[in-house]
Amino acid sequence: MDTSECIFCKIVAGISECHEIYQDDATLAFMDIHPANEGHCLVIPKEHFEQVFDMPPAAFGTVASTVRKVARAVNEVLRPGGISLVQANGELAGQSVLHVHVHVLPRRAGDDLLINWDRARDDDQRFDRDRIAEIAERLRSRLRGSV
Ligand code: 5GP
Ligand code: ZN
Repeated sequence: MDTSECIFCKIVAGISECHEIYQDDATLAFMDIHPANEGHCLVIPKEHFEQVFDMPPAAFGTVASTVRKVARAVNEVLRPGGISLVQANGELAGQSVLHVHVHVLPRRAGDDLLINWDRARDDDQRFDRDRIAEIAERLRSRLRGSV
């Protein structure tokens, strides 16, 4: 992708405005323009990566460190009941901006915030213990020796 067309790269470059709340050499945090909840903000790497798989692990670690810092500030300043951290990869996961970002979402009682799935749904095989164990084994095999 031509990163000059990326809205978050434009924000990093100062071409587009944002309500910035924090930045360091590698990351930037700012308020979401269409907040799902009061205090909803985003943390991004300054460098353009489309999905988390495209990032060196250390770069994602740096983003995670900023996410923790920002989430702690949100927690202290807004005193929500909890905070959800959400990071989408791919359209099916709800990714609309193709530059890695982590949502910091303050949660409040009864906010009914939808994050893609209904945890109360029990109309399929998702809770089958054998199936869970089988998938765990496949993932363990894949993760052995992986960085
Ligand atoms: P996604 O749907 O990709 O997980 O999240 C993208 C987020 O970026 C959305 O919550 C959307 O409101 C936010 N967003 C999109 N364009 C802009 C923008 O120009 N400025 C800011 N501050 N947020 C944006
Ligand atoms: Zn970008």
